[in-house]
Amino acid sequence: MTENREQSLSYKRVLLKVSGEALMGSGPSGIDPEMVDAVAADISAVAATGVQVCLVVGGGNIFRGIAAAAKGMDRAQGDYAGMLATVINALMLQNALERRSVETRVMTAIQMASIAEPYIRRRAVRHMEKGRVVIFAAGTGNPFFTTDTAAALRANEMECDALLKGTQVDGVYSADPRRNPDAERYSQLTYLEVLARDLNVMDAAAISLARENKLPIVVFNIHAPGAFSAVMRGEGLFTRIVEAS
Ligand code: UDP
Repeated sequence: MTENREQSLSYKRVLLKVSGEALMGSGPSGIDPEMVDAVAADISAVAATGVQVCLVVGGGNIFRGIAAAAKGMDRAQGDYAGMLATVINALMLQNALERRSVETRVMTAIQMASIAEPYIRRRAVRHMEKGRVVIFAAGTGNPFFTTDTAAALRANEMECDALLKGTQVDGVYSADPRRNPDAERYSQLTYLEVLARDLNVMDAAAISLARENKLPIVVFNIHAPGAFSAVMRGEGLFTRIVEAS
């Protein structure tokens, strides 16, 4: 297992995908304020370096449409509930960031004007140019999608230099390393390898959207303290997913 020691990845604008699970702590569901604060600390450190940062927040720690559908709920209805769950996480993260004096804006794909701005692409870009961390909530606004796809979509729209996917492990493995000690860790993969090997990192729609627009994806362990900052310096462990070199 080799450590990535590249020069600084020198990104000017990035999108960080924070899954609901990343905010959950050790419990089976819900939100752990300490985890939210740890993620906010890392984001705040990166924003302080002058990198423009936007976030897509998941909701799987609270509600997933597909899980509700498996128990008989209408899938689309469940997905709308899932999208609302992401807004709860976004408000928690916004609060944690603002307690650290980071200026933020939450923008939602489903309008809820009394708590957040509606998503308007050019306005989001302007916020980032002014140094605000923009938190995109409510996924794509459409059922049958995931927040991974929302992350690829918004990263393309914002013309980000990379999509950083914070996960529970330090990169992409051939199998789940928590269950299989022989799982191999990759330091770099192509989009097509991820799709062809059906590697469980992001859904196919998200990978395809990144591939069509040559958006690099960097997968790292968001639970390691300071991991986001380290990845931005090209340090620590991560997997890059890029076009074939
Ligand atoms: N969701 C959706 N459309 C989207 C994004 C999310 O319908 O564009 C719903 C879907 O039900 C999903 C839930 O919101 O299960 C929570 O998002 P996700 O599972 O992607 O969260 P994460 O796994 O990142 O915590």
